[in-house]
Amino acid sequence: MDLRPTDREIAFRDRLRAWLAEVLPTLPPAPRRDDLPARRRYDTAWQRRLFDAGYAGVDWPSEHGGLGASPTEQLIFLEETARARAPYVGANFVGLLHAGPTLIVEGTAEQRARHLPRILRGEEVWCQGFSEPDAGSDLAALRTSAVRDGDCYVVTGRKIWTSHAEVADHCELLVRTDPGAPRHKGITWLILPMDAPGVRVRPLRTAVGTGEFSELVLDGVRVPASHRVGPENDGWRVAMVTFSFERGTAFIGDVIESRNILREIAAAARATPDRGGGTLWDDAALRRDVGRLIAEVNGLWALIRKNVSEASAGMVPVQGASVFKLRFTENRQRIADLAGHVLGRASLALDGLPGPDGRARGHLVEDRVNTLSFTIAAGTSQIQRNILAERALGLPKEPRWT
Ligand SMILES: Cc1cc2nc3c(=O)[nH]c(=O)nc-3n(C[C@H](O)[C@H](O)[C@H](O)COP(=O)(O)OP(=O)(O)OC[C@H]3O[C@@H](n4cnc5c(N)ncnc54)[C@H](O)[C@@H]3O)c2cc1C
Repeated sequence: MDLRPTDREIAFRDRLRAWLAEVLPTLPPAPRRDDLPARRRYDTAWQRRLFDAGYAGVDWPSEHGGLGASPTEQLIFLEETARARAPYVGANFVGLLHAGPTLIVEGTAEQRARHLPRILRGEEVWCQGFSEPDAGSDLAALRTSAVRDGDCYVVTGRKIWTSHAEVADHCELLVRTDPGAPRHKGITWLILPMDAPGVRVRPLRTAVGTGEFSELVLDGVRVPASHRVGPENDGWRVAMVTFSFERGTAFIGDVIESRNILREIAAAARATPDRGGGTLWDDAALRRDVGRLIAEVNGLWALIRKNVSEASAGMVPVQGASVFKLRFTENRQRIADLAGHVLGRASLALDGLPGPDGRARGHLVEDRVNTLSFTIAAGTSQIQRNILAERALGLPKEPRWT
């Protein structure tokens, strides 16, 4: 494993850094989290700018419109965009990070030609319809059915926690096509057009009060068989391809953001008077907490580099991805709690009430509530621990009753 940057990687970083410095000051302010249509417009406009500047799909193969760059260059891209506080991938998350890559591996030539360029240009937003009310961690329990009728599947059922469903054009959908088969064998991966008759989107409110995700009600929705990705009843395998993309890269930008937040916490503590006539930063215990969290973030960054290095060598860092997901999301919650401790009363308000130093830090408050979801989304902490126990430590498999 050689982690020293090559000349090409150094040049890529310099070019990108210069471009970001030029472009970011010209962007309009980001919309509020709860204004999904505005967020779609903002996120897709940013994607279009990346595309025009030649930074769309950094790690996608060039024959599919990407840069065909190395995983290290993808890491540099994520690192520099997060460091410069460029817009987050947002509404483009599912399309860019897992639907697109899944189509590259498993899609037909027509599906790729239809969707990949539009995803890269920010013209097509996707959502993920995997989870159901009784099928989350135990995804193979899903019940939404698809019955073949001529050249269509007729889909009926319910999906839940579908992020960005309100503004998505397509959904990567898992359905049960053979109810008689063993659970993992009767599932199929379909491309669902969100404007098809019979698709109903019912927004759900999050703890932060935003309408980030929805329930999908699917009532006799006709999906052309040409929208199937991979063979019928082979959707579990295709979903595992999708997951390998999701867990590998999902949180990389957030690690850089953790550093930014820790800096803000330190700044707030330095500016906040304490009862002894000094500032909160005089408290050695607080400084120790900040130092410990920074050390953990640095450790997580080293783990990312190791995972990326393994991925470049053709290995799938399953265990590294689970260790990372587990430790990162729990670390992020501790950082958010520390922010709450420093902000004091202001951390109870979501409307940007000024902290003791007089500055409003509503985003840190919102972040504190939002991090609760990090240990659930994309596989809960308990599930990551199961994966590590069984696959990394070789402990006996969890008993299964179904
Ligand atoms: C912010 C956010 C966005 C999301 N976006 C999407 C999306 O766009 N599309 C989508 O399809 N899904 C999405 N999800 C759903 C997410 O994938 C599920 O919430 C997750 O897989 C957990 O499933 P569940 O909610 O059904 O919980 P359950 O599976 O019911 O789990 C409940 C609790 O039991 C624990 N548990 C379950 N099984 C075991 C076990 N075998 N051993 C030990 N503990 C266990 C879990 O860890 C958890 O603590 C999102 C979730 C969140 C929070």
